[in-house]
Amino acid sequence: MLKYLIIQLDSTSTSFCHYAVNRREPCLMPLDTLRKAIRWSMIENVNVQFLYPEYPLPAEYADAIETIDHVKIMQATAADAGKADIVVFDGIASVDADSLSEDMSIVVRTGKKAFFAEYAMLNAILPKVSRLNVVITDIASFADDDFTTYEAALTELAVAVKNEYVGNHPVQFNLLTDRIMLKEMNNCGAGSESLTLAPNGRFYVCPAFYFDDESDSVGDIDNGPSLKNPQLYKLGYAPICRVCDAFHCHRCVWLNRRTTLEVNTPSHEQCATAHIERNASRRLLEAIREVGEFLPGMEIPEIDYIDPFENVRIDR
Ligand code: SF4
Repeated sequence: MLKYLIIQLDSTSTSFCHYAVNRREPCLMPLDTLRKAIRWSMIENVNVQFLYPEYPLPAEYADAIETIDHVKIMQATAADAGKADIVVFDGIASVDADSLSEDMSIVVRTGKKAFFAEYAMLNAILPKVSRLNVVITDIASFADDDFTTYEAALTELAVAVKNEYVGNHPVQFNLLTDRIMLKEMNNCGAGSESLTLAPNGRFYVCPAFYFDDESDSVGDIDNGPSLKNPQLYKLGYAPICRVCDAFHCHRCVWLNRRTTLEVNTPSHEQCATAHIERNASRRLLEAIREVGEFLPGMEIPEIDYIDPFENVRIDR
């Protein structure tokens, strides 16, 4: 069931995920389209997330947006970033920890190499925010050595997260605490739980599909969404994911399509990084429990694999 609509207000609206924004010329969604999108969202009873461009919106857009409950997602450099519910930073080094406040929810997009070089800077960011989402944009490029380095980085960061929990600041950090809080899959859900409306008034599986190929739309705001083979986007039709317990995994259907040509078949890199995070979360849970009771009843079993596909082969 559709739960979210992402409304991309401009062709240059910020990315908050793996994809890059490849448009340079701003193209604002027509006001009439925005109003239709808001009305459609009210009728369909979906939660709305607005992706903002860098420049300030005209007053009539701001007024229209305030007619519906929503989440504002903006780049830290956007003109109205002070009004954002979620602030996006490109690069860990671009985050000024002193400018953050404890009620902030931030997304940090980073490449693999930069993450490995700069992850220690997250230690200064974790105490300053309520939620930190780190998105490694080039996960598909991970090689065997990178998995080892990633595991070591998460082990180090888990010390900082544990200190926050012990100090009564239960910061949410997607790579280490989401799995601790989940008892079932909670993935991106693009194509099943969420769709995107682009500035051209057309629906897409997610903003990445719009940037890849504008003709790859799945309906428009006048006629409603029309996704071909919608079952392929559902967890029940992903044979490995539906029995996996990396509940926090993005399960990014865009990455799936880029790496395996199937929206419901993940790449080795996506599974392995998710399992390294899962296993680091398990160790963090144990470490926090050394200090006192924490989430009784929540267990993350120990496993000896980092890619469920390997596990399937072993079972045969
Ligand atoms: S780790 Fe792999 S199998 Fe598990 S949910 Fe993520 S993509 Fe699916």
